[in-house]
Amino acid sequence: MKNNKEFRTWLDKMNLTHPLLIAGPCSAETEQQVLDTAHQLKATDTTVFRAGIWKPRTRPGMFEGVGAIGLKWMKRAKEETGLMMATEVANTAHVDLALEHGIDVLWIGARTTVSPFNVQEIAEALRGTDKIVLIKNPVNPDLSLWLGAVERIYKADIKNIGVIHRGFSAYQKTKYRNNPEWQLAIELQNQFPDLPLICDPSHIGGKRDLIFDISQTALDLNYDGLIIETHPDPDNAWSDASQQVTPKRLAQITKELKVRKEIGEGEDYLQKLQKLRTKIDTLDEQLLHMLSERMKISTEIGKVKKSQNVAILQTGRWNEILGKMILEGEQLGLSEEFVLRIFKAVHQESINKQAKILDN
Ligand code: PEP
Ligand code: MN
Repeated sequence: MKNNKEFRTWLDKMNLTHPLLIAGPCSAETEQQVLDTAHQLKATDTTVFRAGIWKPRTRPGMFEGVGAIGLKWMKRAKEETGLMMATEVANTAHVDLALEHGIDVLWIGARTTVSPFNVQEIAEALRGTDKIVLIKNPVNPDLSLWLGAVERIYKADIKNIGVIHRGFSAYQKTKYRNNPEWQLAIELQNQFPDLPLICDPSHIGGKRDLIFDISQTALDLNYDGLIIETHPDPDNAWSDASQQVTPKRLAQITKELKVRKEIGEGEDYLQKLQKLRTKIDTLDEQLLHMLSERMKISTEIGKVKKSQNVAILQTGRWNEILGKMILEGEQLGLSEEFVLRIFKAVHQESINKQAKILDN
């Protein structure tokens, strides 16, 4: 995907003074709701109107979308407001209908990105299109699967490609509906800087109160745009009611968000940054050396255990260490989540080192 610059060029040509904003209801419900929302969004920074008409619901029996009739409502919304129209497509029939009705942006949902067969079919149905195709991350935190879907679309001679980061399912519940795992999206951005990256704070957060903070983090990480579920009467929405905001609230959110520059300027700024970066580099080096020392001791412990044929893992001791570290970490301003992640990784590496000794 060396030359996927078209969408980036399109974005640049739009000359927006803010990140690209895609907004609209989770689902199209009635013609009136689609038209009302679109007209209200016209007065905001929104460039693209979104609405799902085929809804991939996790459990059957819930509202599964209005179907193709919704495309007619969107066509009318486009004629009346001039907003571009976006909807989710999950199979070739969806693609054909969306193209017939002049949809400008087609997105592939998280439950579809996981399936290479489906993605390939959609890619073939869209072959050579100059429409914008946005690929949501798969539900599971697997960067290759996400990239694989992007590659399938790209190989079908589709150049206006972007990606949407909507978070990842996890067994352990956190405050998010879908954990952001920011590092995965950042890795994708590093590998493909020309691929516009859009954040979906609505599906990451699952709650409207989280949308602002998630959006700000995305902008701080240089994302190119936001897709935010917006409904004239969010509490009574037919799907994803708790995460939708009114167009008025959307306007407030986007007004308060801070867009940061990619690079700063000025002698003073550069000097300050350089000093701090040098400090960080030194500390990182110390951290590496300390970790290496710690692993040497783990190896020694492995030898002692081997001499008595003792198992590697003593769960009691490990839980005690972890509890202590979390408390100490808190006093030092480190979050429980961070301390847990770091020490679980350190512990795993220790186990690997000791296993090598014991199994030899
Ligand atoms: C949606 O955008 O409404 C949707 C179903 O999203 P996802 O595929 O991210 O779950
Ligand atoms: Mn939704």
